[in-house]
Amino acid sequence: MTPRGARATAVIISPLTGQPRLVDPTLPHVGLEDQALTRGDGVFETLHVLDGVAYKFDAHHARLRASAAAAELPAPSAATCRTALELALHAAAPGSRDPSRDLGAEHAVKLTVARGTPDGEPWAWLTASPVPGATFAARRDGVSVLLLERGHDPAEDAGLPWLLPGVKTLSYAVNMAAVRHARSRGAQDAVFVTSTDRRILEGATSSVVCARVRDGDAAPTLLTPEPSRGVLPGTSQARIFDAARRHGWGVDYGPLHPEDLLTASAVWLTSSVRLAAPVTSVDGHPVPTDERLTRTLTDFLVGA
Ligand code: PLP
Repeated sequence: MTPRGARATAVIISPLTGQPRLVDPTLPHVGLEDQALTRGDGVFETLHVLDGVAYKFDAHHARLRASAAAAELPAPSAATCRTALELALHAAAPGSRDPSRDLGAEHAVKLTVARGTPDGEPWAWLTASPVPGATFAARRDGVSVLLLERGHDPAEDAGLPWLLPGVKTLSYAVNMAAVRHARSRGAQDAVFVTSTDRRILEGATSSVVCARVRDGDAAPTLLTPEPSRGVLPGTSQARIFDAARRHGWGVDYGPLHPEDLLTASAVWLTSSVRLAAPVTSVDGHPVPTDERLTRTLTDFLVGA
């Protein structure tokens, strides 16, 4: 269970080429004029740490560098990020344990690069906190989702770098509003679809993966919307697909539509800390879940 009241530990990397230093997370560290705060102008990564091991570290660092480059921000080196991570974990409260999966002690680690104040320099910080119980509940009980229109097709943004397509920026207010809207309609999470052809895009904070198991198939086929078409390329989805390929499963990329989710053998929302949360219904229509496949996908994510 999540230790109640267990706080995050925090490390600051400022300057970005300097030595990371542990700070007291209860003290103020962000200037009120920091553009990360005033404009959501920064990029971030959320990593899963299990028994002290940061999963997919290289993939997260590569995506951080790509996000930072797209936003014309510098990024701390992988070595600096690792030092910051070790400092934070060393000081962290014991990780929380998932009673349903018993994977080990888990932390969520968030690494943020901020634009800084208008007359200042970009800087970064990292926090490590125990994984909340709600995440464990989502893994165990699954999530009901509502399909919400994205308003425009993000594939159209692909050639427009100022729109930061596929970049993990701090500007998540829309994503959070979508989750609140889904909750106000009785669902637990939101999945974006295009307004024109109702193509499945991604969850508000996750990728969408589904499995098709047909009679006579030797192995399942996993499907996900094309990561290049304006959605965030998920590190969890990529790791699941790599492992699936190694196991001789089929893997394929969209386009996916609502009926593909409704007729799938199982559907998941995947993200680094949540791992693979089974989807139990889409717009109120039940979707089958498959406990064995969910365990296998989880093993793909946290296995050696
Ligand atoms: N898509 C969005 C919009 C996200 O916010 C996230 C994770 O936060 C993902 C996909 C999944 O990314 P990852 O698997 O790298 O955590």
